[in-house]
Amino acid sequence: MSELLPMDRRDGVIWLDGALVPWRDAKVHVLSHGLHYASAVFEGERVYGGQVFQLAAHGQRLLRSCAIMDMECPYGATALDRAALAVVQANGIEEGYLRRIAWRGAEQLGVAARATRTHVAIAVWPWPRYFSSDASLRLAIGDWRRPPPESAPVLAKASCLYAIGTLAKHAAERAGYDDALLLDWRGRVTEATGANIFFIQGDALHTPVPDVFLDGITRQTVIGLARARGLAVVERVIMPDELAGFDACFVTGSAAEVAPVQQIGAFRFEPSPITRQLMDDYACLVRQPAVELAQTAAQSAA
Ligand code: PMP
Repeated sequence: MSELLPMDRRDGVIWLDGALVPWRDAKVHVLSHGLHYASAVFEGERVYGGQVFQLAAHGQRLLRSCAIMDMECPYGATALDRAALAVVQANGIEEGYLRRIAWRGAEQLGVAARATRTHVAIAVWPWPRYFSSDASLRLAIGDWRRPPPESAPVLAKASCLYAIGTLAKHAAERAGYDDALLLDWRGRVTEATGANIFFIQGDALHTPVPDVFLDGITRQTVIGLARARGLAVVERVIMPDELAGFDACFVTGSAAEVAPVQQIGAFRFEPSPITRQLMDDYACLVRQPAVELAQTAAQSAA
């Protein structure tokens, strides 16, 4: 299985600090600030038919994450997007997953690191399925909680935040689940470890307000698709004891796409035609040529 091939033992080319280098030579020094203090931000994107879905939105978010992390990115949005496309093309990837990452280098290894240079790497590879299960997902309610905005850079897609996700997902997998649903420090429902969450009640979607977690690009896209289908989308505070009142549930993310959830802890959900419709609509949208996509976005914004 391609997922089990270690990431450093693949072939192809990776864009590293402005140049395409052989895959196995794209290395980082062990005394890099990014490694010791998780001073890194990244993007996960999908390639459909050789095109990166929402390329510009991901590039802009990477730059916003850099700014939140007080990291100066040496490349602008256009350069980052051009580089992403060059990597896709150089590796001949038609269907795959693209990772852009920026991190602090090795010039300084103390906590303060303003003299470090920001490095950027971009890689792409085939990754057909985010969740190992093909079936509707089962989530545990995680013991780890999303921190308050005074305690972490919660709106950046920052590597440091994934410590919580990794620990919660390990515990969930050990207990036989696919992933964890994370609550925040107030006990509110937030998201899964790498995807946003939606609940269905009748003809309406309910989803938590993304005030202390990532307002995912897929989340925003799916809200647009749902509204275009005439569905109401309610962004509101959701507490875990409300889960019993929802008919269905799904998660969204660039890697996960739109994936149905059948269980969260003791709560069970039914398969829903609304989830099916949104999965189909999303699958259709991601394959629209970029020009049509821009028009669709402009229409839905109007
Ligand atoms: N939350 C977290 C923690 C994530 O890692 C992701 C995946 N990037 C998402 C939500 C979904 O974001 P997006 O739809 O932009 O991929």
